[in-house]
Amino acid sequence: MKSDGFLFDEAAVEARPAAVADAAGPWVVLIVDDDPEVHAVTRLTLGKLVFKGRGLVFRSAFSGAEGRALLEAEPDIAVVLLDVVMETDDAGLRLAREIREDLRNRAVRIILRTGQPGQAPEEDVIVGYDINDYKSKTELTAQKLFTTVVAALRGYEDIRALESNRLGLQQIIDCTDSLFRLHSLRQFSRGVLLQLAAFVHAGPNGILCVQRAVSGGTDPGGADQREICVLAGVGRYAEAVTRTLRDSGVDPTIGTVIDAAFERKISQYSADYTVLYIPVPEGSELAAYIHSHRRLGEDDRRLLEVFVSKMAIGFANVRLYEDLQAANERLEQRVAARTRELEEANRRLEELAYTDPLTGSLNRRSFMEGASREVERARRYQRPLSVVMFDLDHFKSLNDTYGHLAGDDVLRTVVARSRQVLRDSDILGRYGGEEFAILLPETPRELARQVAERLRQAMAAQPMIADGTAVAVTVSLGVSELDPSEDAIGNTLRRADDAMYDAKESGRNRVCLR
Ligand code: GH3
Ligand code: MG
Ligand code: MG
Repeated sequence: MKSDGFLFDEAAVEARPAAVADAAGPWVVLIVDDDPEVHAVTRLTLGKLVFKGRGLVFRSAFSGAEGRALLEAEPDIAVVLLDVVMETDDAGLRLAREIREDLRNRAVRIILRTGQPGQAPEEDVIVGYDINDYKSKTELTAQKLFTTVVAALRGYEDIRALESNRLGLQQIIDCTDSLFRLHSLRQFSRGVLLQLAAFVHAGPNGILCVQRAVSGGTDPGGADQREICVLAGVGRYAEAVTRTLRDSGVDPTIGTVIDAAFERKISQYSADYTVLYIPVPEGSELAAYIHSHRRLGEDDRRLLEVFVSKMAIGFANVRLYEDLQAANERLEQRVAARTRELEEANRRLEELAYTDPLTGSLNRRSFMEGASREVERARRYQRPLSVVMFDLDHFKSLNDTYGHLAGDDVLRTVVARSRQVLRDSDILGRYGGEEFAILLPETPRELARQVAERLRQAMAAQPMIADGTAVAVTVSLGVSELDPSEDAIGNTLRRADDAMYDAKESGRNRVCLR
């Protein structure tokens, strides 16, 4: 099986057994009689018989056993002219039963001929055996034999036609079952073509086209433009798929035939091809073009009509299924998009929980979490850890003079300039309104003082743009280092805070240590 789960293969599609419609040879008549004279007379009498344009050909058997062997070897014998008394008194009757029961041949017509009517009473035989006629040899004149055989041939033909129809219907039922399991339009279309080819007893060469309206056609009058596209191709048309019929490379005369099927909305049966027009419920129209060997007869056409009506429903189902799948996919895409949005919202929420929304620096809580991690690490590896605290000078009056929005701008700029001074491993947090704290891992107090000094200069060096106005901003900073005896950051922060107040008190815009 192919990777796309395609259920139909050219080889997997069996042609319907050729039935009476295909059998153009003579009717085969079997004479079973132990009297050679009977054979000669029968051949003479029926030799010239022609029924429905077909003559007769004879087979001869001289015992029941021989007759059975011939019937086994040649299953399309139409009529058996059967003697009753041969190797045994009831050899003929036995053979009649064997034909029906052992050989399971229900089509062959059996005409029983007996020279000794008393041996096998007519009523018993007709009722007890599945035979079609019972004649005594004396009553069977040439004329009567002729009439009897013609009646038998007519019966045989009817039975074979029925059988052919039955097989055709069975084929339709079987293939619709498997076709209806195909959920993709492409696979389904190919399957239909292969089944059709099998049905007309031809190699699988054909295309299936759909006609659809083209919106915004080139017609200046705005009339509906129609376009014919190839849905599927098999055999020599396998390459034509998914293009318009005109661009598909298919012979233009075939294009004309398909065009006509859509135009006139009818199927067409010719000696070399069959074109089926398939109107699908819900509007769309299809046409299947298949090569054939002969013009299909009435019975086959009726069967194809049944097939086509089933296929039309199949196409509607496949389309519904594909629509449903597309809707499902759209739904899945929407769910995925919503999931992404939710994840993004969650991420923002989480960020909000850890960061200060105004400046993007850590909030006090996550700064404290970072601090305890850093204290632990500094203690474990006996590494220095320093803290810088700083507060904006006269920020209240800045707010009062330039407004709260200007104050916000200044806070953001302070954080941005701090980041330019600090290393990635340093941890900056907004400790209070206009008060910030910085953890400096791997940094002893003296080095921290230098960092603080650079921070001071970064703020004071040039004015900050606050709500469109340039304002001078300074900060006061306090520095302290973690004492190895301390197992929390609290005391260090307090000392840095005290140092910061030292800076405030000694004139602001400066760095103090504790
Ligand atoms: P000092 O130099 O002694 O620190 O004086 P100061 O004015 O900076 O100190 P004070 O504590 O009196 O004022 C702090 C001001 O900071 C008051 C408050 O409105 C302002 N502030 C705190 N948070 C924010 C904020 O998020 N945005 C703005 N625009 N102002 C803030
Ligand atoms: Mg202040
Ligand atoms: Mg303050």
